[in-house]
Amino acid sequence: MLMNPALRPSPVVPTIDLAAPGVRHGHLRLPYSRDDSAWGSVMIPITVVAGGEGPTALVTGGNHGDEYEGPAALFDLAQRLTPEEVSGRVIIVPAMNYPAFAAGTRTSPIDRGNLNRSFPGRPDGTVTEKIADYFTRHLVPLADIVLDFHSGGRTLDFVPYAAAHELPDKAQEARCFAAVAAFGAPYSMRMREIDAVGMYDTTVEEMGKVFVTTELGGGGTASARTIAIARRGVANVLRHAGILAGQPEPAASRFLDMPSDDCFVFAEEAGLVAFVRDLGEEVSEGEVVALIHPIARTGLAPLAMRAKHGGILAARHFPGLVKPGDCLFVTATIEEAP
Ligand SMILES: [Zn+2]
Repeated sequence: MLMNPALRPSPVVPTIDLAAPGVRHGHLRLPYSRDDSAWGSVMIPITVVAGGEGPTALVTGGNHGDEYEGPAALFDLAQRLTPEEVSGRVIIVPAMNYPAFAAGTRTSPIDRGNLNRSFPGRPDGTVTEKIADYFTRHLVPLADIVLDFHSGGRTLDFVPYAAAHELPDKAQEARCFAAVAAFGAPYSMRMREIDAVGMYDTTVEEMGKVFVTTELGGGGTASARTIAIARRGVANVLRHAGILAGQPEPAASRFLDMPSDDCFVFAEEAGLVAFVRDLGEEVSEGEVVALIHPIARTGLAPLAMRAKHGGILAARHFPGLVKPGDCLFVTATIEEAP
């Protein structure tokens, strides 16, 4: 990606040296003047662990503030990892959009910014755009491999998967899928996006990096099972990159594909959603996956929502009530690994 040379410097200042060997815990400090703190700052926690020669991994969570497997695995990693274990460098940011994470919301309470729709960002933009710009111009260029944790947040739930995208550079795509396989989630996904504009994923991929993302659960919480998947996955990716010693722990993973936009089904009525299939179950094309009951009166038939594309139920709306336009469910097909 070509950087605009006319862009002003980022206002973000790291409180630690990102290059020196050893382990350092600090912050990315972003000035944010406001009523309760005239010369205040947003303080985004960051840890850098650097050992001997080797590549750099950038591992992140909290890109969306209501997704918890990544932050749980990365706050844990940041307080455990030692320079003696590391060949190269690990940059850990457990909560990229820290204001959103601290509020427990997908978007920032400061500016309603959705960080994963704000890339590549702006140094003179909103707080969320300034965070995006700092990653684009300062952190991602340091990295050889980038792992960004997501889950479904408050409104979606997923079967646990690590994922990469189809890319124009097939050699880069193969490196990304090799890292997805190393992660070792129960499912590995060739992921299709509803709208890839403004995503961190797209920015990192366009910079030629090896990029792995995840969807590990959801519902605005994390389970012991999905946190264990996240912890094992980040260690496996660091082993795969040669930053930690040893081989990734072998794990059985089913490969999934989303070959068509028909994999996404959106609600067309408001109401109470009654799923008749659960996550991970197989559904065939045309099969009823959920019923939407009108709630204002009794005696009305529910709207049957059918799979437009057969496969397994890979994601579903989490809360019990839906609105028109909500993503109701996602199907994905089981494939041979690439
Ligand atoms: Zn997310």
